Amino acid sequence: AKAAGGGTVRFYTRDLSVFAAERVKLESALWSGLERSEFSLFYQPQVRVRDNAIVGAEALIRWQHPEFGMVYPARFIGLAEETGLIRPIGEWALVTANAQNRVWRSQGFPELRMAINVSTRQFRDGGILHSLQALLAAGELDPGSLELEVTESSMMDDMEESIGILNDLRALGASISLDDFGTGYSSLAYLRRLPVDRLKIDQSFVHDMESDPQKKTMIKEIIHLALAFNLGIIAEGVETSGELGFLAEHGCHEYQGYFYSRPVSASEFERLLRAPRTN
Ligand code: C2E
Ligand code: CA
Ligand code: CA
Ligand code: CA
Repeated sequence: AKAAGGGTVRFYTRDLSVFAAERVKLESALWSGLERSEFSLFYQPQVRVRDNAIVGAEALIRWQHPEFGMVYPARFIGLAEETGLIRPIGEWALVTANAQNRVWRSQGFPELRMAINVSTRQFRDGGILHSLQALLAAGELDPGSLELEVTESSMMDDMEESIGILNDLRALGASISLDDFGTGYSSLAYLRRLPVDRLKIDQSFVHDMESDPQKKTMIKEIIHLALAFNLGIIAEGVETSGELGFLAEHGCHEYQGYFYSRPVSASEFERLLRAPRTN
């Protein structure tokens, strides 16, 4: 496999879905990757539309494999979820992102909301709740600055249970964002009952919206829904000024996407905090 570029890795993981032996190989590579600290977090700014201020960061995991090079989460999160490896990986991501946010605070940067992605498994089995409780007990967590991104589809299997878990998480002080919003099947009635703080418009609606009236309609509807329910609203995958303009016009609070910045390393993120873009 070559060291850089997604091509080789993509080929490799496509094989994995076919051959069980290859899956076992990736699984053990994931384990040793954890042991050898091959994972890192990149951070993407979450930006307020009104004044372009960076108000948050989404932590996104990266795997720097000695042989395959940079492996993106799409290639391994699914398998990690199936095998249960997502537990230690997710725990590591929470601890690391939280520690990073505390470092930034101590360096005098304004308070940031740190968003981490929570897999269905971590959500359902109480893993994320226990990790939060442990950090809190150790005095190492400012829960008010932590946001948990849960997907709409994670909520679906068991609505009543989901509501209970969300309430427990919020009781600890964390906020909840409903990720990939619009791609699931949630009805209005159901959304009304979900204790969440923010909707995150899925990037599939944002992508190419300017040439697609249906996407624009969907985006408008989701923004209006969020505003009507008194929820925060953020759009992801914003790549152009035209997309941002449309979102601003319709009252979207925040955005994230390549237009402002790709996900970057912690040190590059610091540079963005020091010298924010003005667009
Ligand atoms: P997601 O949570 O929906 O994250 C958004 C993805 O869109 C990220 O891909 C991000 O790099 C990418 N992105 C951001 N801005 C743009 C843009 O303007 N244009 C385009 N085309 N893409 C953009 P990434 O980092 O490869 O992550 C993919 C998925 O992997 C995430 O989707 C999330 O579901 C999962 N993931 C990442 N880190 C973690 C983690 O620590 N734990 C768990 N459970 N899942 C994670
Ligand atoms: Ca996310
Ligand atoms: Ca998303
Ligand atoms: Ca997604």
